[in-house]
Amino acid sequence: MSQLGARAVVLGGSMGGILAARVLAESYAEVVVVERDKVLGVSTPRRGAPHTVHAHGLHARGHLIFEELFPGITDELRAAGVPTGDLGEMRWFFNARKIQPARTGLLSVTAPRPVLENHVRSRVATIPNVTFMQEYDVLGLVATDDREQIVGVRVQSRTPNADAEVLDADLVVDATGRGSRTPAWLDELGYQRPEEERVKVGLAYTTRHYRSRPEMFDGVQSINPVASPAHPRGAFLGQVGTDLCILSLTGLLGDYPPTDPQAFLEFARSLPVPDVYEAVRDAEPLDDPVSFRFPASVRRRYERLLRFPDRYLIIGDAFCSFNPVYGQGMSVAAIQAMTLRSHLRTGRPPSSSPFFADLSHVIDTPWDISAGGDLDFPAVEGRRTLKVRVGNAYMARLQYAATEDPEVTTGFMRVAGLVDPPEALMRPAMMRRVFRHAIRRPAPGPSWHDVPTLGAATSRTG
Ligand SMILES: Cc1cc2nc3c(=O)[nH]c(=O)nc-3n(C[C@H](O)[C@H](O)[C@H](O)COP(=O)(O)OP(=O)(O)OC[C@H]3O[C@@H](n4cnc5c(N)ncnc54)[C@H](O)[C@@H]3O)c2cc1C
Repeated sequence: MSQLGARAVVLGGSMGGILAARVLAESYAEVVVVERDKVLGVSTPRRGAPHTVHAHGLHARGHLIFEELFPGITDELRAAGVPTGDLGEMRWFFNARKIQPARTGLLSVTAPRPVLENHVRSRVATIPNVTFMQEYDVLGLVATDDREQIVGVRVQSRTPNADAEVLDADLVVDATGRGSRTPAWLDELGYQRPEEERVKVGLAYTTRHYRSRPEMFDGVQSINPVASPAHPRGAFLGQVGTDLCILSLTGLLGDYPPTDPQAFLEFARSLPVPDVYEAVRDAEPLDDPVSFRFPASVRRRYERLLRFPDRYLIIGDAFCSFNPVYGQGMSVAAIQAMTLRSHLRTGRPPSSSPFFADLSHVIDTPWDISAGGDLDFPAVEGRRTLKVRVGNAYMARLQYAATEDPEVTTGFMRVAGLVDPPEALMRPAMMRRVFRHAIRRPAPGPSWHDVPTLGAATSRTG
């Protein structure tokens, strides 16, 4: 592998940053990851990444890339007590209806996010040419006098009275997440900020951990009533350790799941299916509920900028941050890392313009899935193109058909898991299956509060 430079510096040591560091280490003599938190050996939520306390599923595509970059990591996670299972065999509800379980062959890894991150980061930390500067703040970029190239970053240790330092770099990669300061830094350097596309979802997650007992799950790894326009409250209840489970409740457009323990349980009871409430109402809580607000999905259009400084790239949530209920962020960060690897493998230092164009291409599908899905909620603002309207109308039929036909579940999970493109759901054989069950858009399923016996029946069928 050719060496493209002496040092690459990655800003941010969360999932996007460590995946980038893994591939950069193949092409730069030294890779330095600058992170404001203490991260090495840390497998609990931390200040710089407060979202990591909430339920995080790793999609099939992300899992495949993790295994490619870190061979044996699935076995390592299993040995550490992390449950893994077939994505199609979880108990999924869409529109208050349980879809048919299916053996898809796609693995779902349900580790607590900080545990998953710690395993990945520990692997990256063993790469001889990667070092972590922990508890360092990134203050800004260092550019050449003509501001055409980024040649380093200003950093400052969090130890009291520490001075700012300059870290020289042949390449800088911003992986500082949603709060990335790159738009402001570009401004300071005399460049334009990128356009931003926002889909305001007014989402909140509120999460609590419980000691899990087998009877809570009845043989499944997780129970997931997903929010839909008719039933906008949702939940992810998953086993994440040998006797540990996590419940994240989700509410949209300001309907935030409360943190008061009794009100939290009431919110679980208000879900359209009883399964989650029945599982946790007598369970032993291990902590107090905590909340995280996610006002909007944000796609920054760096690929549209006509001028951009050389030797500087952006990756992960800093580039695009998706509504998390679709569970895409870590997998997209992994796909982006593979895109970076393919640019490095050309044997030339990566150039921002073609890299951003490829990243944007990578993002089109997950963005269509999440932004398009969000626009099915009438109160979410945004332009409903014909593609969005047709897509959502078809998805409603497809999700209904999946309540009858496990082959439809499989096709759906392959697309949701970012393994197949959405076009796979439009193939004639799949469309025949869908329209066999739902020629018209089906009415949403009723809530168990309206039809209590229906809820009790669905809750027992795995
Ligand atoms: C509630 C919620 C649930 C989610 N669920 C899922 C899921 O189920 N599946 C999934 O795949 N994805 C999920 N995601 C998305 C996923 O968390 C992110 O996509 C993923 O973390 C990649 O983010 P990142 O590494 O780019 O940024 P982040 O995780 O935000 O990390 C940024 C890092 O940069 C550091 N940093 C920031 N600024 C500085 C600075 N100035 N100096 C030094 N360090 C700095 C921070 O400390 C942090 O470690 C969810 C997100 C949320 C909010």
